[in-house]
Amino acid sequence: MIWTDEQIEMLATLWKEGKSASEIATFIGCDISRNAIIGKAHRLGLSGRPSPIKKKKDVKAATLFVLTERMCKWPFGDPKKPDFHFCGKAVDVMMTYCPEHRAMAYTPSKKPIAVLK
Ligand SMILES: [Zn+2]
Repeated sequence: MIWTDEQIEMLATLWKEGKSASEIATFIGCDISRNAIIGKAHRLGLSGRPSPIKKKKDVKAATLFVLTERMCKWPFGDPKKPDFHFCGKAVDVMMTYCPEHRAMAYTPSKKPIAVLK
């Protein structure tokens, strides 16, 4: 789908008026799908209206402030530095780490590394 300037303008106008994506699709025509409308609207940075599509939750690095009992407490970085954070993946109750980090935590790391000859 190649958007003409008129179509983009129409999309922006109708979007701001609060028309639904399928209504906009009807206006623009060209057998355009409502998904294409939504995709284009997002690329144009149009927002500020309720969308029936749930936004994916931002997976932000967990900080000490949001760390809960149900999150992996595997640390990343230097605790003295501002970018220090925890893994934050969901864990089972009473678990300290997510499965991935649990495996790392309980793998003996002090083992001398075999030297290949
Ligand atoms: Zn983890």
